[in-house]
Amino acid sequence: MIKKFIQYYKPVKKVFIIDMICAFAVSVCDLFYPMITRKIINVYVPNQQFQLLITWLIVLAFLYIAKVGFNYYITYYGHIMGVQMQSNMRRNVFDHLQDLPFVFFDDNKTGTLTSRIVNDLMEVSELAHHGPEDLFISLVMMIGSFIILATINLPLALIVFSIVPFLVFFAMKLRVKMSDTFMETRVTIGEVNATLENSITGIRVSKAFGNKESEIKKFEKNNNMFQVARAKAYKVMAQFHTGSSFIIDFLNILVLGAGGIFFYKGYINIGDFAAFILYIGNFLNPIRKLINFVEQYQSGISGFKRFTEIMDQPLEVDEPNAVTVNSVKGEIDFDDVSFSYDEHKTILDDISFTIEQGKTVALVGPSGGGKTTLCHLIPRFYETESGNIFIDGRNIKEFTLKSLRNNIGIVQQDVFLFTGTIYDNIHCGRFDATEEEVMDAAKKANIHDLIMTLPDGYNTYIGERGVKLSGGQKQRISIARIFLKNPPILILDEATSALDNVTELLIQQSLEELSKGRTTIIVAHRLSTIKNADEIIVITNKGIEEKGNHEALVAKEGIYANLYNSQFKNIHS
Ligand code: ADP
Ligand code: MG
Repeated sequence: MIKKFIQYYKPVKKVFIIDMICAFAVSVCDLFYPMITRKIINVYVPNQQFQLLITWLIVLAFLYIAKVGFNYYITYYGHIMGVQMQSNMRRNVFDHLQDLPFVFFDDNKTGTLTSRIVNDLMEVSELAHHGPEDLFISLVMMIGSFIILATINLPLALIVFSIVPFLVFFAMKLRVKMSDTFMETRVTIGEVNATLENSITGIRVSKAFGNKESEIKKFEKNNNMFQVARAKAYKVMAQFHTGSSFIIDFLNILVLGAGGIFFYKGYINIGDFAAFILYIGNFLNPIRKLINFVEQYQSGISGFKRFTEIMDQPLEVDEPNAVTVNSVKGEIDFDDVSFSYDEHKTILDDISFTIEQGKTVALVGPSGGGKTTLCHLIPRFYETESGNIFIDGRNIKEFTLKSLRNNIGIVQQDVFLFTGTIYDNIHCGRFDATEEEVMDAAKKANIHDLIMTLPDGYNTYIGERGVKLSGGQKQRISIARIFLKNPPILILDEATSALDNVTELLIQQSLEELSKGRTTIIVAHRLSTIKNADEIIVITNKGIEEKGNHEALVAKEGIYANLYNSQFKNIHS
């Protein structure tokens, strides 16, 4: 863990080294003050050496001026270094997220992920900057003061230092407890973020259902959990602070008592005694700093731990023998493919079929039968459990993921549009496309004319996830994306299911246009749209139940015939 953390110092090495040098310089400046005090009380004042007194005061003044510079560097560039490390980590984790498989996103909530990437890394940055600096200053000050105290009066110094093991023991004891509570705080604030995110994105649904109370209740529950976790953390923190504070205060009594007796017995002179008291202050400050460091370390490292948990998630990777295949013809082969999301339930069982280049195959079956799942296996959103899928006779595992996905276009029921302009949302179909190509794609998707009537045209801002557009308009934008991408393989997964009848018909025409010359897999609830498919495959959790064209399947009087008849009757009743 620490090793991984230290790696992030590499790009900021220079600032870090200067920062440490400044920290060292500040500590040295602070170590000088008691020494000069001692000299003044013991030597210059009794001997009336005012010249020397003034000289040393000037030296001290210069030291303090220099200290201003060092402190400025530490606070300003030190923090900048922390922020830079934070940004680097955030960039890394963002890159990593882009290449994580669907399974990861199925299992993780958006809110907790953002919490990890935003809040946790903020704490990490604090540790990155203050951690080594506090640790270093503390060590220099403690070792420095100890050496000086020991040279002034060894027995008294030993008495003072006898208390250190207690502090260390105490700190160690609370360390584990503190780390647990900090971790819990992180997890619960992540949950708060998750409910918040869920609630805001779902605000239209909960308003429509008048679900305010239950939403508030859900939020309250998580918010309270956070409060409880935080309270626990504060309790341990309070124990740590008050306990260590007591030990430190006790040290004062010890020094005053023992020092007083030493002075009374003549083992120490007044200047040494004064220097001692000042050095004790010098010694106590770093202890306080160390205590802060322990706390900051626990907090930062538990944030870093959550960061590394994401970074350690295995990425989708190309097989070693994978090749970039720029344009395939589009023949698809399923060979005994089985798949399940978990071992309890088989979703696809021994599926085999072939789609010739440019042909259309319709998948029909009960909801939950595995149609969407099957579609997701082709671009390798999920990996088959057994069996293989081939495109143009080449196993899809032999494609690089990027080139495989470049050959496939998917239109789904719920269109996802990014926050941004219409142009951006079409352009993301192919990033090297020109403006003309984007417009051409929009024309093919029958949305160009509508876009031109908008005051900002292609630069119209569509609101978060396209809330400012109708369902049909959104779907047209997603179709324009695919026209732009121009893939040889097309998957239409209930692309028109969410639309009203009239819009559905219009979109249907665009989709037919889109599927021309492409190998197409179509999943649709309306049997009239699948009637014309070259082949219809009836799929349930048991596997492929029927296969054939419309006429053949109706004649068979099986599941398909039943579905067809029931819908046919519904339309006419
Ligand atoms: P269809 O598209 O035919 O309606 P799906 O392929 O969406 O069916 O779902 C098939 C089954 O797999 C369902 O029982 C569903 O609950 C389950 N399922 C779908 N997606 C996931 C997922 N990401 N994780 C776990 N189970 C899933
Ligand atoms: Mg589905």
